[in-house]
Amino acid sequence: MSGSASSGTGDRFGIDDLPVRDELRGKSPYGAPQLDVPVQLNTNENPYPLPEPLVERIAERVREAARGLNRYPDRDAVELRTELAAYLTRTGKHPLTAANVWAANGSNEVIQQLLQAFGGPGRTAIGFEPSYSMHSLIARGTGTGWISGPRNEDFTIDLAAARSAIVEHRPDVVFITSPNNPTGTAVDAGTVLALYEAAQAGRRTLVVVDEAYVEFSHRASLLPLLADRPYLVVSRTMSKAFGAAGLRLGYLAAHPAVVDAVQLVRLPYHLSAVTQATALAALEHTDTLLGYVETLKAERDRLVGELRAIGYEVTESDANFVQFGRFEDSHTAWRRLLDRGVLVRDNGVPGRLRVTAGTPSENDAFLDAVRDLKKEQSA
Ligand SMILES: *Cc1c(COP(=O)(O)O)cnc(C)c1O
Repeated sequence: MSGSASSGTGDRFGIDDLPVRDELRGKSPYGAPQLDVPVQLNTNENPYPLPEPLVERIAERVREAARGLNRYPDRDAVELRTELAAYLTRTGKHPLTAANVWAANGSNEVIQQLLQAFGGPGRTAIGFEPSYSMHSLIARGTGTGWISGPRNEDFTIDLAAARSAIVEHRPDVVFITSPNNPTGTAVDAGTVLALYEAAQAGRRTLVVVDEAYVEFSHRASLLPLLADRPYLVVSRTMSKAFGAAGLRLGYLAAHPAVVDAVQLVRLPYHLSAVTQATALAALEHTDTLLGYVETLKAERDRLVGELRAIGYEVTESDANFVQFGRFEDSHTAWRRLLDRGVLVRDNGVPGRLRVTAGTPSENDAFLDAVRDLKKEQSA
């Protein structure tokens, strides 16, 4: 299950005995626990399985693809990128074509390709933390130096401090996560524009807006900001709102030159024919898939309201999850909830935990558990 699975020889040979890169020594892999408990609200997945007609359509398209599996897939995934561009154009209020879009195995791979092309040894990337831990992990994996930028007490971006950090460190890549994970709040367009300008002063810096949760947001997508901003990239995923985390499909929208750049580092045929066929089937059912988003938004708002009523402090959420606290010891609180069969996430933010909006009954189970926890802790 974990990176410590041994060779079975009973010896004590471990990672540190291998000639691994120095910056990987003593580090842990990304590891949200995958535990088999009744209520799993820890990885921001969509709780609703794909609808049956879509499952049928996926089977059909995959069967078709299977007949050609003796050949490599379309290396440039043109049909898929065309459909993704159409989806973004329709929903993002900004016209895009396949030339603006690039797809990979999850937006994590998109981010890795961006850092391979624009980061790397001798270069740096900055993010404003707490934020998505994979940005710094992928930076490390690609040999990119990582700079941890600041946030306000309420977890919004401290614009003045963020600007000075960009001016001081001159990073090669700036990450802005909106809505932010694990805190939940979306970033307004003005802040993104100000940071973009700071990042371009005197040099050319790629600004990546990670919009993994944008479909759940009170704010519109930042896609229209792409107009006339060739150093801006918006990344998206089918893992959250589309309810297809198991598919592994992420994508970006940017100037076509950015798409040309990531093609210099992508592995040939990185997106399997099966993945492309499945994603295309899912895109045929976009409306059904996104149909659950409204339910989840309402459940998210219910969680915010009820958590506040119980007496918890809740961070404003534009996502399908909610950050709440405070706890004297968030890890102990996490344990107590797990003992009650409810798995939430301890992201290492002091005094806070994060819960994903699940189905109404999962959320009820979670709310019962946190009500008990509150009583226990104030007793
Ligand atoms: C979940 C998440 C992703 C999605 O990663 P995939 O590789 O597409 O599953 C990307 N960014 C953020 C901020 C996330 O929380």
